[in-house]
Amino acid sequence: MGTSRPCRKPMPSSSATHGLWGLVDCNSFYASCEQVFRPDLRGKAIVVLSNNDGCIIARSAEAKKLGIAMGEPYYKVQGLLKAKEVNVFSSNFPLYGDLSNRVMATMEEICPHIEQYSIDEAFIPLRGALAVNAEDIAVTLKETILRWTGIPVSVGVGPTRTLSKVANHLAKKGNGICVLRQDAPYQDILSKVPAEDIWGIGRRQAAKLALAGIRNAWQLAQANDAWLRKRLTVMGWQTALELRGIPVLDQDTTPTPRKSVVCSRSFGERIRDRGLLAEAIAAFTARAAERMRRGELLTRGIAVHIRTSYFEQQHQYEQTAQRVFRQGTNDTSFLQRTAAQILAEIFSPGFAYAKAGVLLFDLIPARSQQTSLLPSPETDPKRRELMTALDKINAKHGRDTVRFAAEGLQGQVWKMKQNKRSPRYTTEWEELPTAYCK
Ligand SMILES: [Mg+2]
Repeated sequence: MGTSRPCRKPMPSSSATHGLWGLVDCNSFYASCEQVFRPDLRGKAIVVLSNNDGCIIARSAEAKKLGIAMGEPYYKVQGLLKAKEVNVFSSNFPLYGDLSNRVMATMEEICPHIEQYSIDEAFIPLRGALAVNAEDIAVTLKETILRWTGIPVSVGVGPTRTLSKVANHLAKKGNGICVLRQDAPYQDILSKVPAEDIWGIGRRQAAKLALAGIRNAWQLAQANDAWLRKRLTVMGWQTALELRGIPVLDQDTTPTPRKSVVCSRSFGERIRDRGLLAEAIAAFTARAAERMRRGELLTRGIAVHIRTSYFEQQHQYEQTAQRVFRQGTNDTSFLQRTAAQILAEIFSPGFAYAKAGVLLFDLIPARSQQTSLLPSPETDPKRRELMTALDKINAKHGRDTVRFAAEGLQGQVWKMKQNKRSPRYTTEWEELPTAYCK
């Protein structure tokens, strides 16, 4: 494989003082994940579908070239996909989540500090020697991530976060690496970036800008400060400053501890039976509670939501109710009992339910709450130990190895339709990939 090493430009002193921002973004992430364990599909057109195989949420570069649009409902393009022999996958989030963790861990091996921004993107502050050697760091990141995880990435580097995003955009069009330094010919570069492609500029803001004759990043960078603040608010003005190379979004954007956890799904089939609906809600509660415990949090409230399909003409029904607790809890069993009580209040027979959800809200760090002297159902220390043991077993032996009877003992009919899901190669022992030697 040829090394894609960009030519090095002289480094002005300002880069050394302010440093640079790197942005690593995986190329067509979900499609790339599918290709890791299916080398026969590399270089082929692939699409990945949303939950319940609804619409297209990821496309390999080859699928993009065929003109398949993002967000297109699957049933509408099914014929085209078949005719063009496009490989179709249901989404496989256990696989994508696991490969995402591996990509992030690889970055951390190379750079001491990274800020994960989404499942397939991370900002990397490059200071001192890292800024001086930004080109080499970018090449190392790209090559190491590909070698260690099989996922291709693009690396953009710029004096501000917004310019690192622009650089990443350009990297994707070129050899996967683009380093913009303070002395870059910004006018040439930015005038080719459409306003709606700028990070932080939404479609509505782009429309506002177009009315004022601002259609590209260079024009935005040159716009009048007072006008920007008035028409685009402070955030739009900050974007313009960042495009000029003035870092204003330098503060750490690592998300603050989450305030709520939600687990909500559309069912593979409509549910009329209250018992089945209760099983689904118990399972969603377990999932949400597990996610909450992973963040070492407790909840002080739970809400349950059920509804019929919005496409249902006559019999529509939708209801939500909640409970708040005096003490924080992370006890799945207690939360499931509460969720069942809420369901009993809001369930109405005779409807075909299409979706349900559980929200845990008002989350607090587990450490902030002392276990109270008076044992209560929410805060029994023995229950906390039980939950830790449960999570450990399920982490080691696979999801749902141990679960509560309330979640249903047989086939979970409410499970999503995922007819085309690939094996969960990296997170389930039964689904490990097999290698053959000839
Ligand atoms: Mg990406």
